[in-house]
Amino acid sequence: TMFDNLSDRLQKIFKNLRGQGKLTEENIQSALREVRMALLEADVHYKVAKDFVASIAERAIGQEVMQSLTPGQQVIKIVNEALTELMGGRAEPLRLIGKPPVCLMMVGLQGSGKTTTTAKLARKLVQEKRRPCLVPADVYRPAAIDQLVTLAGQLKLPVYASSVQQRPEEIAREALAYAKQQNCDTLLVDTAGRLHVDTELMAELGRLKEILEPNEILLVADAMTGQDAVQVAGKFHDMLGVTGVILTKLDGDARGGAALSIRSVTNCPIKFIGTGEKLDALEVFHPDRMSSRILGMGDVLSMIEKAQEAFDEKQAQELAQKFREDTFSLEDFRNQLKQIKKLGSLEQILGMLPGMGMLKELKKMQVDEKEFVRMEAIINSMTKGERKNADIINASRRRRIADGSGTSVQEVNRLLKSYNESRKMMRQMMGGGSAGKKKKGKV
Ligand code: GDP
Repeated sequence: TMFDNLSDRLQKIFKNLRGQGKLTEENIQSALREVRMALLEADVHYKVAKDFVASIAERAIGQEVMQSLTPGQQVIKIVNEALTELMGGRAEPLRLIGKPPVCLMMVGLQGSGKTTTTAKLARKLVQEKRRPCLVPADVYRPAAIDQLVTLAGQLKLPVYASSVQQRPEEIAREALAYAKQQNCDTLLVDTAGRLHVDTELMAELGRLKEILEPNEILLVADAMTGQDAVQVAGKFHDMLGVTGVILTKLDGDARGGAALSIRSVTNCPIKFIGTGEKLDALEVFHPDRMSSRILGMGDVLSMIEKAQEAFDEKQAQELAQKFREDTFSLEDFRNQLKQIKKLGSLEQILGMLPGMGMLKELKKMQVDEKEFVRMEAIINSMTKGERKNADIINASRRRRIADGSGTSVQEVNRLLKSYNESRKMMRQMMGGGSAGKKKKGKV
């Protein structure tokens, strides 16, 4: 996925630092040179990369080496904080307070994913117990109107059925009245897109803004276009006053530069990210989680949030508790497998799991529906005791389990390895700094 290369590069840099006894100006400078190269290669704006490295240097050099951290860990900590800040520090929620219907105006270039994102956002609002109404206002492309009407149908949401004969301003006025009449509290307007930023379009959007008085003007930008997305965001912001950016296609293999640069270049916060074509593939953008994802620490929080959507909250909390206390058993693992199907795309879920090692391992296994069935069969062939305590599963038990499930010992081994790795990494993540009671004495 998007940040794989950058993650790999940074992890290598940190690994080299790990061998050093303490942080000196020299070893930090050489590490930072490499960090800067890695950022540039990830298509981060050159000025952003330069400022970023300078701010890290300032924080790192001369800092007392903390007893509990190795130099590598210490730099990771500093880089993590700086990356988080670079992306805006904290999640920026939508501003939805106001006299209903509050309006969200969606703007962006053609092909950026604007229409899809409008529907995704409506779906999210429904989950938050709001009642959105959708409005297609791209009168230059009948297909765009049809697309949004179809998506609204899938979501069973009211849609103001505009026609290409109408002027956008007229659509805006009538849609406002329609939303009121339908008792909708939120109006999502999908505006026209062009291939390039042009003044005519900007003028039209400006007139719509006056009529709609939107709470938010959300720019939808394609992360795959890298620095172009940053430029486009800047132009829209200058001419229209963008209140938030939604960065799409972060599931693709672009290098991530846009996500890292947009905030500091344009001063517009990224509010959501699109991570797939399906309507559930929209996530609140959390700078801190994105940063730990980039640094290869995984994104446990996002995963738990996703899990909460699919499971109920109580279950998710129990799960978090189990990871924390290290009582996550193979039985829990099996339940996870069963329910993971509900979570949508598997790739998406795997992308959030901590530890690239495990990710690659699972990818090699080419996890698909059939693989799930096999993994479930393996766990089913275990005894209750084995599921509770995987440590007792010795060679002869592995043989028996393989025979019982019609699989091979290698497959049993692989499953146990995945289970153990995820357990270990989740525990580290959940434990946070103190890593539970046992280790406290060491710090
Ligand atoms: P618009 O012209 O800006 O309205 O763009 P569309 O909503 O029609 O989307 C253009 C294409 O991008 C479609 O094929 C969408 O399925 C795809 N798309 C939108 N968002 C995402 C995303 O987050 N990830 C991926 N992989 N594809 C997306």
